[in-house]
Amino acid sequence: MAQKIRIFDTTLRDGEQTPGVALTIDNKVLIAEALADMGVDIIEAGFPINSEFEFQAVKKIASEVDTTVCGLARAMQQDLDSCIKADVDLVHTFISTSPQHLRYQMNKTEDEVYEMAVSAVEYVVDHGIPCLFSPMDATRSDLPYLIKVCKGVEEAGAKVINIPDTVGVMYPSQMKEFIAKIRKEIKIDLDVHCHNDFGMAVANTLAAVEAGCNQVQVTVNGMGERAGNADLEQVVMALETIYKIKTNIKTERIYQMSKLVERLTGVRVMPNFPIVGENAFAHESGIHVHAVLKKAETFEPLKPEMVGARRRLVMGKHVGIHGIDAKLKELDIKVNKDQLKDITNKVKNLGGMGKRIFEEDLIAIADDVLGKVPKKEAIVELVDLKLDFELGKKPVVTVVLNVGDKKKKATEDGVGPVDAALNAIRSAVSKKEITLDEYHLDAITGGSDALADVTIKVSNGKRTTMARGVHEDVVMASIIAFINGLNRILRL
Ligand code: MN
Repeated sequence: MAQKIRIFDTTLRDGEQTPGVALTIDNKVLIAEALADMGVDIIEAGFPINSEFEFQAVKKIASEVDTTVCGLARAMQQDLDSCIKADVDLVHTFISTSPQHLRYQMNKTEDEVYEMAVSAVEYVVDHGIPCLFSPMDATRSDLPYLIKVCKGVEEAGAKVINIPDTVGVMYPSQMKEFIAKIRKEIKIDLDVHCHNDFGMAVANTLAAVEAGCNQVQVTVNGMGERAGNADLEQVVMALETIYKIKTNIKTERIYQMSKLVERLTGVRVMPNFPIVGENAFAHESGIHVHAVLKKAETFEPLKPEMVGARRRLVMGKHVGIHGIDAKLKELDIKVNKDQLKDITNKVKNLGGMGKRIFEEDLIAIADDVLGKVPKKEAIVELVDLKLDFELGKKPVVTVVLNVGDKKKKATEDGVGPVDAALNAIRSAVSKKEITLDEYHLDAITGGSDALADVTIKVSNGKRTTMARGVHEDVVMASIIAFINGLNRILRL
């Protein structure tokens, strides 16, 4: 097994082929810069022949981003020329070698495909550019023919050969054997590209590493065609922590990277997604929380800080007394043993009714148990609101608020009605330092009159709190959530 693995990221090429995803050039550059900063060895920036837009994006990334930038090309001169013109550091050329693709997709013989592969690699090498070659659908190809093509491109001067499991049909032990057979015949570096159609992309990638691949193709958040590609976060963390094999990735940037891609592509990761999912470091059940607080290794295979994430203690019906105690300490609320027991029971009861318990609720419960007179009356209250929304113009919102015993009015615009409304509220309370860190919208039932359930995270730089608003209208639900959050922060 190799001692160090090169990470080839194809988020901007295969990842962007995720159905429904389209990135602007600026956003592609932003992702490429973050990938380079994180330590990715090679970035596949796109498929330049696809469109003028794609060409410009690849060209811009190749000139501005400081790492090896690769462009994709079919084994055809126009594609290769497009990569060369985009000034990439590495050309990734591919052609199918499987009987299915030869017959139905290309209508070519084995000899014709062999010739095309070899001359494509020769063409790139002749231009003085390193070449990566992929026999597409390799895992469904006849092995002797596949090896013949690989040997041909090796002789033609290819720098690395990538073995793609294009349709994701391999299983790990089979992949290991398959790569080992190729490894025996080929001297140059081997790379692997796995798809997740049966949920085995990461496992197959690691099996290929076991058999001698020293480069892996991955995407952030496992994005990619159909069920996606091998996930960067999982492959890197498995290599680093389970296999003890090094990569150049600064792992503490992984969580942030995942969030950036999530935000720019609009594709959210599942809560139970490994490493970067919302629940990857969350603990709710009492026994787990107790143990994790004493020693994290008890129920955490890796430390959240290693990937730049945070441990989260979730309060719900499974919450235990130690979880509540930790949360109260975090909020600087002092309680004695009996009060703690009381608070825990109340939280459990609410959790049992299916309620998610946020800090706001916990503080209210604690105030109640501690016999404090809670400042029930809101500091900020919505009195009136006017929304001007005309197609082609920025929406403008005017709000009238009661802030303490004063009436305040403000008008602001925004990118949309929600943004404009929140800007106006912020302006009326003259609290510019208050930021909206997270915004999450759920529709409770179907239809355009469905209840909108907005959960937000607001911060004033010192303190962060979650708040929620429910209303038939999404703008109103957002305003209610924001005002709840403001009241929480201002009251403390
Ligand atoms: Mn692919």
